Amino acid sequence: MVQDRRVEIVEVGARDGLQNESNILSTEAKVSLITRAMDAGIKRLEVASFVNPKRVPQMADAEAVIAALPNRPGVTYIGLVLNERGADRALATGIHELGAVAIASDTFGIRNQGQTADESVEVACAIIAKAKAAGRSAQVTLSAAFGCPFEGEVDPARVADMARRVAKAGPREIAIADTIGVGVPAQVTDLLRRIKEAAPGIPLRVHFHNTRNTGLANAWAAVEAGVTSLDSSLGGIGGCPFAPKATGNIPTEDLVYMLDRSRVETGVNLEGLITSAIWLTDVMGRSLPAMVSRAGGFPQPAAHAAVSA
Ligand code: MG
Repeated sequence: MVQDRRVEIVEVGARDGLQNESNILSTEAKVSLITRAMDAGIKRLEVASFVNPKRVPQMADAEAVIAALPNRPGVTYIGLVLNERGADRALATGIHELGAVAIASDTFGIRNQGQTADESVEVACAIIAKAKAAGRSAQVTLSAAFGCPFEGEVDPARVADMARRVAKAGPREIAIADTIGVGVPAQVTDLLRRIKEAAPGIPLRVHFHNTRNTGLANAWAAVEAGVTSLDSSLGGIGGCPFAPKATGNIPTEDLVYMLDRSRVETGVNLEGLITSAIWLTDVMGRSLPAMVSRAGGFPQPAAHAAVSA
């Protein structure tokens, strides 16, 4: 039993959550989503992706979103970057941190960002170097680490080797992403153990999708394995434009409920998240996958007067 521990929640709704939505939110609505998550206590957020707007029109206003974000102490805004051109765009904004992506599958890598797995490792290292030279923070996500929509099984030894190679560039953390939501807890435990060995001392982050309903179980396995950060999206929105049938990230409010009740500190206020998720449901105009925003948090005892009435 894990007790009295602390993990960081990284809200990715404004990036991963929205990039696959046919409903393109206005810049103002995106900023509102980010601000609401921060009001609930989130301190680190993926806010945009510097990708080709022709390929991902949902992220076309990356610069405008970042320019409109409030400057809050202790908050880190991350921009996703897939190549050096994206890095240059990101560095021209006030973004705090660049998120590079190396993909553990050649076929998916070529479809997602025009790079083989090996090329994506090289590009990620170049992005980290560029960010650091500009005085910004940088991290790397190893994507499709649990399985590929086109190639099927992904060898965990290959993912660990990629971690070893990207670690040399000095990212602030390495994340592993189950981009298509195929992973299970035993796989999480095994892969994190391998990555810790391959990249000792580097903080680990996980990114899960709930496509096959294993997302929260995977998140718990990751907490027990000692990860320091977990990605999630308000309402459980999300997907991937280049991964067929990928569905939402694990929902932030469901994750925080589980962690709160397990005495794992997040610094995030569940009621604030629920209020924000209800707002987002309205904005998206459809019901969202998250459950805790519908069920509510742990029941509070009824007030005495109400009980005796
Ligand atoms: Mg994702």
